[in-house]
Amino acid sequence: MQSNHILIRYGEISLKGKNRKVFINQLHENVKRALKEYRDIKVKQTHDRMFVLLNGTDPQDIIEKCKYIFGIQSISLAMKVENEVEEIKAGALEALNQAENAKTFKITTKRSNKTFPIGSQDMNQVLGGHLLSNTTNYKVDVHQPDIELTVEIRTDATYITSKRVQGMGGLPVGSSGKTLLLLSGGIDSPVAGYLTMKRGVRIEAIHFHSPPYTSERAKQKVLDLAKKLTGYGHSIRVHIVPFTMLQQIIHREVPHGYSMTVMRRMMLRISQMVAEKEGILSLTTGESLGQVASQTMESMNAINEVTNYPVLRPLVAMDKDDIISLSKHIQTYDISIRPYEDCCTVFVPNAPKTKPKKAKVIQLEKFLDVEQELQKTIENIETVEITSHSNQNNHFEELL
Ligand code: ATP
Ligand code: MG
Repeated sequence: MQSNHILIRYGEISLKGKNRKVFINQLHENVKRALKEYRDIKVKQTHDRMFVLLNGTDPQDIIEKCKYIFGIQSISLAMKVENEVEEIKAGALEALNQAENAKTFKITTKRSNKTFPIGSQDMNQVLGGHLLSNTTNYKVDVHQPDIELTVEIRTDATYITSKRVQGMGGLPVGSSGKTLLLLSGGIDSPVAGYLTMKRGVRIEAIHFHSPPYTSERAKQKVLDLAKKLTGYGHSIRVHIVPFTMLQQIIHREVPHGYSMTVMRRMMLRISQMVAEKEGILSLTTGESLGQVASQTMESMNAINEVTNYPVLRPLVAMDKDDIISLSKHIQTYDISIRPYEDCCTVFVPNAPKTKPKKAKVIQLEKFLDVEQELQKTIENIETVEITSHSNQNNHFEELL
């Protein structure tokens, strides 16, 4: 008898009503994609669990991959036995014997197969008795057991598990549509990307760069950040916008106190145009309320005016310290702190208005002749597809 399956428990998906199937199908697809290099396995979905039949594949490899797939609550190595009392007893005994350093145990039976003749409570007794009389050094402890054996009696078979590895939670990427992430080289926006993906959203990224004021290495940093994010779901297209000319015009024509506001509005306009073209329904930024001049309530109001797209701001209420620890956790921090200039820092005035007046911005923009340059900029956007690479999460630390 062998532990030859991986049992995957769903997270929030299990709370979904009618469209639960859509979420499960998406998760199934994502799991299969993440495990595609393992030729011998089979992935099977049911309404409340997913099973990976190992067929000799190392279970640790599979668990390691599943740990980073959004939509999974927990993962366990499972022993599959037939729905026969004697088989289940033997399986439970073997599972207990495999446990290292355990002195106390608890049995939790879950009988979703109501045709099985023995109820869950009675089954706990039967199995507990069997384990006690066939071992010498174990005791039952229902409160703080060293090992908890879970026995799931289902229609097709019974699955016995002991250890649970925590998954990422969230929703399967792809189940909540797509967003266009404004990805700078900073600390915040990659974290915002990660959090949106965690809610099941696929992302494309847009980056504004201003050569020669910003270097090739600054651009590479953004591509590296995007690559990191691919480890949480899928390939990511990055749209690189040549922003130099527009920034120069804004810098020249707009009083410096307002240039940052006008520049941000320009970024949002361009982002919306790209989103429209790509059939993407929302934008996402790494803004956090009150963090810098462009993120005051007044600034957000003045900047946001140019778009009627939903702008997702997953970090809006987070403290910088928390954002930093999350960025370390998802391994984007070390890339983000590489010391290359960003287009905004190059052109940012010494004293941007923290409370820009919307009417004044609109007035200033009336005199700004950028239409031609804007068209040219859009035409010259370069799109790079960053594909995922499978091993990047190997050093991911224990989950939050
Ligand atoms: P980050 O750490 O993400 O750069 P930040 O705290 O430095 O954020 P800002 O520079 O004000 O804040 O940027 C706010 C948001 O605007 C960023 O989180 C990002 O979503 C977007 N953004 C800023 N600069 C760029 C850029 N060059 N390309 C794309 N998006 C940008
Ligand atoms: Mg920044």
